[in-house]
Amino acid sequence: MTAKRNQILAELKRLYPQAGPELNFSNPYETLVATILSAQCTDRQVNKVTPELFARYPSVEAMAAADVNEVYPIVKSCGFKSKASNIVEACRLIALRHAGQVPRTMEELTALPGVGQKTANVVLANAFGVPAIAVDTHVFRVSNRLGLAQAKNVEQTEKQLKENVPMKDWIDAHHWLIYHGRRVCHAQNPACEICTLRSYCSYGLGEKPSAQDKPKSKGRPSAESSAERQAKPKWKTSITGQNKTTAAR
Ligand code: SF4
Repeated sequence: MTAKRNQILAELKRLYPQAGPELNFSNPYETLVATILSAQCTDRQVNKVTPELFARYPSVEAMAAADVNEVYPIVKSCGFKSKASNIVEACRLIALRHAGQVPRTMEELTALPGVGQKTANVVLANAFGVPAIAVDTHVFRVSNRLGLAQAKNVEQTEKQLKENVPMKDWIDAHHWLIYHGRRVCHAQNPACEICTLRSYCSYGLGEKPSAQDKPKSKGRPSAESSAERQAKPKWKTSITGQNKTTAAR
């Protein structure tokens, strides 16, 4: 397993050397807000609304003082009004409890409204460089197809990935798996015929256990992917990083 795992990780690294967050943000506050908005929404859509949002509310303090009814129209295309409420309330709590600084621990982050374990892992990794693996629908699907995990739910997948991937690669591996899931290993009709990982992949070689594509109800990834599946990403022969800036990487 170790040799195969290392070969898979090496190939993912070769394929996506510049993989990183596809959300645009430039500090921990923006990372948190963009990540909350990205639940059940595509990164592309979030990136459309955040320039106006961050121009109007450029800090935790500004968002904490905001009227939800004025925030909601800006972020409406990303989903429910509860997202606007969660963002404003989370910033109020950060101002109150953490002197306006986005907290750096899982416990403190998940105490904020709209922040579950996946969102907290994304913030820890992308805002602060803390080793973490956020299991979204792409990470779940691709890692289980490749055998980096053999799990039925998100919690098991995160635990197994942390056991099977060296900690120094956790943050990058999260991005590699997302990139591969969006560009090649689609939920429907994965492009196995052009996938350079096929020789390591029992799913790609025709052994396709049905349990590996969708987790059981416990810890099921967000519906983020359903919108993305509809977008039907195209295969790109050249992958380039298109991120704006990460706060601490
Ligand atoms: S061979 Fe197919 S199922 Fe396996 S990682 Fe590649 S695209 Fe996904």
